[in-house]
Order: sequence, then structure tokens, then C-alpha cells
Amino acid sequence: MRILIVGDLHSNYQALEAVVKDAAGSYDQVVCLGDVVGYGGDPNRVTEWVRANSQVTIRGNHDRACTGDTVIEWFTGPAQFAAEWTNAALTPENRLFLEQLPAGPLAANGFYLMHGSPRDEDEYILGRAEAAYLYPYLPGDICFFGHTHIQGGFGLRRGVAWALAAPKHGENETVHQLEPDTMYLLNPGSVGQPRDMDPRAAYGLYDSEAKVFVLRRTPYDIKRAQKRILEASLPLFLAERLAHGR
Ligand code: ZN
Repeated sequence: MRILIVGDLHSNYQALEAVVKDAAGSYDQVVCLGDVVGYGGDPNRVTEWVRANSQVTIRGNHDRACTGDTVIEWFTGPAQFAAEWTNAALTPENRLFLEQLPAGPLAANGFYLMHGSPRDEDEYILGRAEAAYLYPYLPGDICFFGHTHIQGGFGLRRGVAWALAAPKHGENETVHQLEPDTMYLLNPGSVGQPRDMDPRAAYGLYDSEAKVFVLRRTPYDIKRAQKRILEASLPLFLAERLAHGR
């Protein structure tokens, strides 16, 4: 089975469209790591795509904040503003879908999905030290996570963690053959709001038979995504950051 892994889409339909086009023919199934909405200007289109195409989806903190959860109180001003706008803009069907998403970690086809970390869906796994510390909490060998908006991830063996290389500027992908007797925390990156200084949309492809994980980047129509944010009267900062990937 070849699986397209998307996360942190953040209502950016232009980025999602580019990912789907770029990945066409390379996957049989889709899974989603949460944060379908929040920040961007197209919450309904992105949610509808996830509803129609993702076999397994878990919730992110923004999906909760945009559907009335008190987690919104911890958000920064622009994120709070966008969450309130999203809540009002969502159709009842889309809001209900997001509201009912399960929390991670969730088992799916021999791997696990989580938004933040295996012990807390709101926790950020940013470095090797955090990954190594989480070793006892991992529910299985292959865990996909998001939340940081930083593409990459970690391999873990006998208490040692190492980082997986993400595509550099000028590269479209990095290919990782997963080793036996190793645990993995794999982050496909953010489709709709990358924060790793690369503005291109990020996603992952996993081949469960060959045990190969590919990290990919694709350019998309950033100007159009920015226009959608401004048309929704969302904070200018949310549009500007897309151009810088941070
Ligand atoms: Zn996010």
C-alpha cells in the first residue's frame, strides 16, 4: 500500500491542490495528521477534500479551536482571530466533521498517526533530544506526526535518535529506506503553512511494503493563497508568512 500523508493543511486550498497534483499516481490511500483548518482562507474547500479523500484523519489543536474548544485561549492573537473567523465560516457539515475527529495516537494499517507527540497531542517534537525522550511512549515502530510544520523526523535505536534529511532548496524529495529494529517518528511537514524556511508545500509518501518513506516539496500559487487570506479579512501577517515559509 502506498500512502499519501498530509498534515497541517491550514485552510490552504492552493497548496493542497498542488500537493494532490504532484503526488498523482504515487498513492493508493490518504491519511491526515490534523490541523485541516485555521490560518488560511479556504476552510470549507480543504475540509471537503479531506472528508472525501482521507481514509483516516486525526484532529489537530486548530481543528479543536475552530470548533469551539477552549484550547483557543492559548493561541496568539492572529491565530485566535483566524479560529473565530473559521468557526463562523464553516458549513454545519464541515464543522461537525472537524468536531468529531478522533485524537491521536491512532492506529492505521500498521502505523500510528498523532498530531503532536505520542503522550500529548499538543506537544511539539522539535529536536533529537525530545524524540529520544519520547522513545518509551511510542505506540509502534512507525509513527507519523505533525504540529511543528517542520518536515523531517527521527530514527530511534537503542536510546539514540538521529534526524532524517528533508529536501533542501533546489531538491524536490529525499528518500528514506526504513530499517528493521528501528523506531521512527516521521513528519511529512505542513501542506499549508511551512515554517522550515522553505515556502513550498510539504508532504510525505509511505510505501508500507517496501518500507520506504519519501519527503517531498512542491511549489504552489502562494499569491492566490495570500489573496484568499486577505479577501477573508484575516491578519496580513498570516498571508505574508506564506512567502517566507516561517
Ligand atoms: Zn498546525
